[in-house]
Amino acid sequence: MVPHFDLNGKVALVTGGSKGIGFGMAYALGTYGAQVVLVSRGQAEGELAAKRLQESGCKAAYIPADVTSKQQVENAVQMIVDNYGSLDILVNNAGMNIRKPLVDLKEDEWDRVMLVNLKGIFLVGQAAAKQMIRQNRGRIINISSILGTIGLPYQTAYAASKGGINQLTKVWAEELAPYQITVNAIAPAYIKTPMTEGWLSDPARLQKIVEATMLKRVGELSDLIGPVVFLASDSSAYVTGQILTIDGGWTAR
Ligand code: NAP
Repeated sequence: MVPHFDLNGKVALVTGGSKGIGFGMAYALGTYGAQVVLVSRGQAEGELAAKRLQESGCKAAYIPADVTSKQQVENAVQMIVDNYGSLDILVNNAGMNIRKPLVDLKEDEWDRVMLVNLKGIFLVGQAAAKQMIRQNRGRIINISSILGTIGLPYQTAYAASKGGINQLTKVWAEELAPYQITVNAIAPAYIKTPMTEGWLSDPARLQKIVEATMLKRVGELSDLIGPVVFLASDSSAYVTGQILTIDGGWTAR
């Protein structure tokens, strides 16, 4: 009856693992024993991130790939299976945002957000699921946002993409349950990362966010360690199709 959070022997793929939330989650999984493999486009940054994880005592590697390329995604998954023998955990995290008023958002900006945040999640999830079905086990953790549920200004494309992630999380949970693969999403509010540092640097905006949050602060990478380790571990064996919101109480109001 003792909960299991140990990830020794597990192999985890973290897309967008070179910085921000992906890096924090890779650190969390690596600290709990998983072999982590980071995927991103910027090779120098990705290699440096893997090196930093190794220096912290984690088993870490890096594979350059663009999540919007089916070929590159499939090659990355194949390399992981060839090198480490399995793929047990996917943190489907790579994402981007273009914040603009509805009337100013250009068509190609909408397309870019959808391509990375929705098609990328689909392509990586599909490639990982094929391997996990062969193994008859797996954990898929999609990174959504509170914007998958609530609306905020200037988030037309981003909120639509995150709403889509919440929906495909539920669909995949149902489809993959027969193979003992659980599929859940983590939906954070604002976390300090390279993606949000410019947005959060406006004191008036920051104050509004803090006021909207019951716990009166913006999230830190450390706030995501417990949730991702829980969803990646044996402790969450009976949890699937869920959106775990990490928002200091914002959306409960
Ligand atoms: P970030 O600091 O900008 O990091 C994004 C990561 O994704 C980088 O490693 C980036 O590396 C990679 N990436 C971007 N496009 C990619 C592509 N096409 N192929 C492969 N990798 C790609 O972002 P973040 O703030 O950590 O956000 C990570 C995830 O959390 C996103 O899905 C975001 O929507 C979600 N989220 C963030 C917050 C927040 O407040 N920060 C809140 C809720 C949800 P390269 O550019 O080198 O490829």
